[in-house]
Order: sequence, then structure tokens, then C-alpha cells
Amino acid sequence: MQNKKILVLKGDGVGPEIIDCALEVLSAISDKSGEKFTLDFADIGGVAIDKYGNPFPEETEQKLQDVSAVLLGAVGGPKWDNIDPAIRPEKGLLALRKALGVYANLRPCQIYPGLIDNSPLKPEYLKNVDFVIVRELVGGIYFGKRDTFIENGLRTAFDEERYDEAEIKRIAIYAFETAMGRSKKLTLVDKANVLDSSKLWREVVAEIAEDYPEVELEFLYVDNAAMQLIRQPSSFDVILTNNIFGDILSDEASQIAGSIGLLPSASLGAEVGLYEPIHGSAPDIAGQNIANPLATILSLAMLLRYSFGLHAEADQIEQAVKQVLANGHRTKDLAPDDYLGTREITHEVIKNL
Ligand code: NAD
Repeated sequence: MQNKKILVLKGDGVGPEIIDCALEVLSAISDKSGEKFTLDFADIGGVAIDKYGNPFPEETEQKLQDVSAVLLGAVGGPKWDNIDPAIRPEKGLLALRKALGVYANLRPCQIYPGLIDNSPLKPEYLKNVDFVIVRELVGGIYFGKRDTFIENGLRTAFDEERYDEAEIKRIAIYAFETAMGRSKKLTLVDKANVLDSSKLWREVVAEIAEDYPEVELEFLYVDNAAMQLIRQPSSFDVILTNNIFGDILSDEASQIAGSIGLLPSASLGAEVGLYEPIHGSAPDIAGQNIANPLATILSLAMLLRYSFGLHAEADQIEQAVKQVLANGHRTKDLAPDDYLGTREITHEVIKNL
């Protein structure tokens, strides 16, 4: 059996402690399954600035050549808030995503039994909520032309939303394939009543849909989608959308689940996948053994599933997390008065594997 190689980037703030938890789970999975993993470590973000003067140093970039997956904690913190904006820790993260070419960002959202009270939504809206947002990650308005200038004596600015059919096609195929592995419903979220780029998305997605007759395809304008995510979140299975709409809707979705410490993510589409919790480096709670490691542990499950095809092992981790929550164990973000520490809840996950 060939060793599976993972590059681990712990980053800043709570990054090192939550990644250490995920690595403990990986070691337990390896013991159980006999699968062997080779780990390499490198720096990104603030720690990399301190060591190399660069948030995404060449030493780190080079190590990407030799691995199949990257597991990342988080970057940033007050220590680096006032440095040259060109080398802020977050620039390291953007440079990493660009270097990898990961165009498909997957953010699953589900409600765990027992956590219903942690959601701001009423319980009746939360039944059967289980969807995934497939967000285009490397195109659109965040990467388009932009300019600020004076025209007719007025300060003027523009940002260009531009997609070509190849960019839409590859993410659409990704979303349809994702839907095939789930409940076979796909919702394209756009603004096709106004934007030409959205009309092209609809055209291309409808063409791709012909290859997936089993998938029910629905179109929703983004303003309506924002409303339906709150009114009937259980109506969604796979949400496909562009970079900017996905950015906004996935933050809205993260709140439905109850805590930012629960949601994992995978950025895919290239040879090497990138896996990280959706939260930041939480400097306010770093080093206190109170961060919730579950989003990172669930990101590891996504890594095993998507980069190595280890579905049984990924299922085991996801089931163990569910069981730990069902058993009533909580971290401080979920139960401020009666909670387990970061390491202790990880040991519960390992017990339940
Ligand atoms: P944050 O996500 O780090 O924290 C927001 C709030 O959520 C804080 O109160 C924090 O304590 C809490 N929180 C976050 N993760 C948690 C966890 N696992 N368990 C329990 N509570 C948790 O966002 P922020 O405070 O806006 O940013 C802090 C730093 O992180 C900044 O430097 C920011 O730029 C950076 N950041 C990095 C990433 C990333 O690396 N992907 C993403 C967002 C923000």
C-alpha cells in the first residue's frame, strides 16, 4: 500500500492546537485501518512572516509538489495587523489557493442532533437540513478587472464580473457529480434576471444538466436564495453558485448550524486538495484549550474522502463526531457553562471511532 502524503500547515492562533487534534484522529484512523500516511510540515501566515518575511514562502510552495493534500489550520492575528498590507498573513492563504488552482470550494452544512438550540433559527425550520454549497473559487468579480478614476469630475469605480463557459462548465460538472453522490437535487443561484454573466451560467448549467438526467435542476435568484436559506433550509441539497454569491451565502449558512467551530471545507478541482475549517485563527481564545476542534476534524474527514477515496474512514470520523455530540459533549462555544476542552473532546471522538 502506498503511503499517502499530506502537507500540514498549522498557521496561527488556534491553528496549531486544532490541527494537533486532527492529527491525533488521523493517527487513530491509521491504527484502525492500516492505512499509512506521511506527514510533512511547513509554515504559512504570521508564523511564516516571522520566520521568512513572507506569508507563503518558497519553502512552503515547494512542498506542494510532493503531496496529495494540504490540511490547514488558520492564519492571522493582531500581531500582524499593522504590517505592510502586501505581506499580511491572509495574503499567504490566497497565494496558496492560487498556487494549487483549487476552483471548487465545498462547504457542507448540516444540523447535529442536540445542537438545535444553538441555531438562531426556530427548531421547526431545522429538520432535515443537510446541504452543501459549491462555490466557484478562482474566477468572477474577485479576480476581474477593477479600477477607480475620475469621470465627469466624479470619483468612479468598477469591478468586472466575468466568466467564460469553460470556467462555468468545470464547476458545474463538479456540482452535478456532487449531487449524484447525494440527494440528486441541484440549485443554481444567480441573478439571471439582471446579469449577462448569470444568463451564461444558466445556459451552460442547463447544457451540462442533459448529461445528468437523474439530477433535479432548479434555478433561484440570489435574493430569493438568501431568503429561502432562512425560511426553508431543508429544501436545499447542492447549491451551485459563483464566487461572490457563494462567499456571502456560505457565511449565512454557517450560522444555521449553530457555531462557526463546526463547519469544515474542502477546496478542490486540482491535483492537490486543500482542507480547512471555515473559521479564522480565533486569537481571542488561542492557547487556552477551549477552541472547538470539530470543524478541523471534519475537514480531515473530507480530506480522506476527496483526496484519498477513503470513504469508510471519512464516514467513521463523521459518525464519531455526531455520536460525541449526541452523547451531550460540548466545547465552550456550544455550552459556555459545562464543556470539555479542545483535547478532551478530541479524545471522545477517538473513543467513538
Ligand atoms: P475568527 O473566525 O477567527 O473568530 C470569530 C469568533 O469565533 C471569535 O470569537 C472566535 O473566538 C470564535 N471562533 C472561531 N473559531 C472557533 C473555534 N474553533 N472554536 C470556538 N470559537 C471559535 O474570525 P476573526 O476574529 O474575524 O478573525 C481572527 C483572525 O483570523 C484575523 O486575523 C482574520 O484575518 C483571520 N481569519 C483567517 C481565516 C483563515 O485562515 N481561513 C478566515 C477568517 C479570518
